[in-house]
Amino acid sequence: MKLAQRVQSLKPSPTLALAAKAKELAAQGHKVIALSVGEPDWDTFEVAKAAGIKAIQEGFSKYTPSNGIPELRQAIAKQTEKEIGLKVSPEDVTVSTGGKFVIFSALQTLLNPGDEVIIPAPYWVSYPTMVELAQGTPVCVACDESVGFKLTPELLKKSITPKTRLIILNSPSNPTGVMYSKEELKGLAQVLKEAPNVMIMSDDIYNRLVFEGEVAPHLLHVAPELLDRVMMVNGAAKTFSMTGWRVGWAIGPSVWIKAMTNYQSQSVSCAAGFAQKATLQAILEGEGELKKALTQLKQRRDFVVGLFKDVKGVTLSSPDGAFYIWPNIKSFFGKSYNGKKILSSGDFSNALLEDQKVVCVPGQEFGLDGYLRISYVIKDTAMTEAVERLKAFIAKLT
Ligand code: PLP
Repeated sequence: MKLAQRVQSLKPSPTLALAAKAKELAAQGHKVIALSVGEPDWDTFEVAKAAGIKAIQEGFSKYTPSNGIPELRQAIAKQTEKEIGLKVSPEDVTVSTGGKFVIFSALQTLLNPGDEVIIPAPYWVSYPTMVELAQGTPVCVACDESVGFKLTPELLKKSITPKTRLIILNSPSNPTGVMYSKEELKGLAQVLKEAPNVMIMSDDIYNRLVFEGEVAPHLLHVAPELLDRVMMVNGAAKTFSMTGWRVGWAIGPSVWIKAMTNYQSQSVSCAAGFAQKATLQAILEGEGELKKALTQLKQRRDFVVGLFKDVKGVTLSSPDGAFYIWPNIKSFFGKSYNGKKILSSGDFSNALLEDQKVVCVPGQEFGLDGYLRISYVIKDTAMTEAVERLKAFIAKLT
């Protein structure tokens, strides 16, 4: 059967595909350790669960407005005001089915064919594909270890062309866990101020999962004058451990937000009403549980960074936020596993999976080879076992 041109080269999301592979191996009886999932192992916050159940029991299970229930938009506006220190109108908020779809609809409603989108690499796997699905052209800018995996003003300046329509920033980052400082954001803002046609998508989905301060530094902290060019994306998934509830939102320029709401109304209609109610309660009353989650997250970060100190040939910096580490495995390139040469992070992670049933996402999926993305929000015992298996695998390389 012949499918549409636009899906000819469409691949499944590699992280979701790997999660499926891990489940398949586990079903075959293997003791798989998945370090590939983008969600914490702790449960959805109690306040959210209770509100979701109550909403269902009270019959709040019908369509809602496409841009979300007003009280949720109000709470998001207030929360965002607190985070960025600028006035936000609930009218400029749209809620939909997860941050992922919000990003998708933002791209669908902004881009014309051929518009360029600057994406610092390593990047979240879905950005380039989503840009292509919106007929834009992803311009992936390599930000390697020498620049701390972050875009610099020089790299940004070099990447802007007359066709540039958007830049996507994500801090703290998936996959590296690195976060831009205010100073670094100032440098980027300076360049962006000189490029008035370039819009900015700030993917703030991990902005509360930080190890210093309460919220990640934001471009709008240092350049509030860019407000009318910034689309902020956030959601319930990571902050409140609500990945499966599918509630995300965006705050941005009115015209763009309205177009996104229309796009949503013609596609997914709305996020589930009870999930919106649960999110509302998480925003209003979830801070206590978030504090506890952050304490555990920090312990786990320190624990995994400590474990990796003993893994010969791997180097790693301690992340600033989110729940990933990004170890460098380049020293194994050129070595062999079972007679097969390892030439990429994909080769490494495939061999590791085959030999030890440990699932990691290869760096090349995020646009920068030579690394693994490891999600460390699993129990310490499982993490210890995973690192032991990794060492056993490395010892077999010749
Ligand atoms: N942005 C980044 C950087 C992410 O890592 C994710 C999820 O993995 C999302 C956006 C989307 O999150 P969700 O659709 O679950 O809200």
